[in-house]
Amino acid sequence: MSMRGPGGRGAYLSDEEKANAPKVTGELVKRVVSYLVPYWKQMAVVLIAIAASSVLGMMPAMLTGRIIDEGLIGRNMEMLVKLIIASLAVTFGSNLIGVLQSWMNTWIAEHITYDMRSQMFRHLQKMPQSFFTSNNQGDIITRMTSDISGVQRVITDTLTSILSNSITLAVALIAMYSRNWVLATLGVLVVPLFTIPTRSAGRKRWSLTRESQTISDEINGILNETLSVSGQTLVKLFNREEKEAEKYEAAARRQIDLNVRENMAGRWFRVVISTFTSIGPMLLYLVGGILMMKYNADLTVGDITVMVSLLGRMYGPVNSLLNIQVDWIRSMAMFTRIFEYLDMPVAIDNAPDAVTPDHADGNIVFNDVRFSYEPSREILKGINFELKSGKSIALVGPSGSGKSTIINLIPRLYDVDSGSVTFDGIDVRKLDLKFLREQVGIVSQETYLFNGTIMENLKYANPSATGETIVEACKKANIYDFIVSQEKGFNTMVGNRGLKLSGGEKQRLSIARVLLKDPTILIFDEATSALDSISENLIQEAIDPLIKEKTSILIAHRLSTILAADEILVIKDGRIAERGTHHDLVNAGGVYTELYETQFKKALEA
Ligand code: ATP
Repeated sequence: MSMRGPGGRGAYLSDEEKANAPKVTGELVKRVVSYLVPYWKQMAVVLIAIAASSVLGMMPAMLTGRIIDEGLIGRNMEMLVKLIIASLAVTFGSNLIGVLQSWMNTWIAEHITYDMRSQMFRHLQKMPQSFFTSNNQGDIITRMTSDISGVQRVITDTLTSILSNSITLAVALIAMYSRNWVLATLGVLVVPLFTIPTRSAGRKRWSLTRESQTISDEINGILNETLSVSGQTLVKLFNREEKEAEKYEAAARRQIDLNVRENMAGRWFRVVISTFTSIGPMLLYLVGGILMMKYNADLTVGDITVMVSLLGRMYGPVNSLLNIQVDWIRSMAMFTRIFEYLDMPVAIDNAPDAVTPDHADGNIVFNDVRFSYEPSREILKGINFELKSGKSIALVGPSGSGKSTIINLIPRLYDVDSGSVTFDGIDVRKLDLKFLREQVGIVSQETYLFNGTIMENLKYANPSATGETIVEACKKANIYDFIVSQEKGFNTMVGNRGLKLSGGEKQRLSIARVLLKDPTILIFDEATSALDSISENLIQEAIDPLIKEKTSILIAHRLSTILAADEILVIKDGRIAERGTHHDLVNAGGVYTELYETQFKKALEA
């Protein structure tokens, strides 16, 4: 008998689980039930199947009595054969129903899991950027995966086990009491007496299991951190191989000891259990014998055998039913965690009266925009500017001054705290979100490529793009020659996050991707990290004509990009410190002059 519940979870609540046990309100239960309601017909079938298979499953035990009394002791060959065949047939029937039941059960559980996962996935995609920057990615994934599989376990295991165990117990009790009340009562007393000590033994083992799981988590953490691409780069560059190996081995050694102890505790535990469980039947034989021989009770050998056999079938159900509370609390905790995510408000959503204009010019206006990521620290402190359709603006300024923050407000990755951002005269918060995001194309510093082929990454922007437009976009982005020079051409895999490509190649690929999207406004967040001059020229050649062609905002770190823009905004400490053309600003002796002297000019000379 395993003390670990399904899925390796223990049968006992940890202190933490006890402390965090959710308050089970009617509302919570109602909400959980609402996920089951669509499948009530299938569930009804499962209920009937469980009831039928539990009752049938008890029949052979009861038939044993007649096999002994009427068949063997009564020396009736025909009856014996009939009873044996009946017993086998009943077992077979019960198992057949069991197959139907577990198929149906899994089907329901899978559908409910699917419903919950899809709902969660859609909901999470509506979460604001801040949700993803402040929540641990692992935690988000855990809720999507293990918590929701936990729900599946509740349906396939917990619910089924409550029902089948209760029925089995009821049938056993009725059958026992209908034969002999003294022995039946003895059985009722014996079962809990022997299940309770085994529970306390199990609890000890469970605490070892938990300890070993903590180490297991620790080891997983080490593996995750050191065996990832970036982790290994860090390890190699800082010569940490030996230290990391020592850290890993120390944890793994502690695990050896614990696992051995846990396994041995299991062994002792089994000795205890099997001794205890065999005391029960012996007691029944003894008391049954006394009743039969000394008191001439109306009992047959078969009756006693049936009683013993029924008793043996009661341990399991009693143990499971004693654990129900644990399963219940754990399931409710899981549901609570899932609902917590589902209840998080969607901060950035379509306004109820959102408008979808039938065409877009691409005029952007920032009106006294203030914004902070965290309440205590204002990042943008009153930004005012206008970008006219067809024009381009370069944002320059020291690192951390708020340039990327400004552009994040345009496609509503975040919303302003006060003031407004308008698109063609309409507040972006009033625009249809899908429309707005269609209008804005961003080539960010950090290029987001997913692990797939170049073609797949390009088509992400526009799944219906034809081969011709793709080739054209790649030529414009100066990446076409590179792609066709690859052995697999457009089918070249880009690796995790595009790591198989160079920085410059990634940038050009994301320029091509944005071109395929064909947005009204192009935002280009120039990489700060230096690329070699050939790569840089390739990007420059791609981007310069685009700036002339499209309404664009450029976060610029290079002079040539700045020169291509119609207006320069110098951002410092969340404000526009200076504005004008390169000529206006370069000799003004302000922030721009300083930036020019320290940054752009040097790059120019290099
Ligand atoms: P760089 O040129 O280095 O990219 P930047 O001018 O684009 O800098 P922003 O990225 O806009 O600067 O950041 C402005 C400030 O906001 C920084 O001080 C940064 O620490 C802070 N910040 C940026 N993103 C977040 C976030 N998600 N949560 C909290 N603070 C943030």
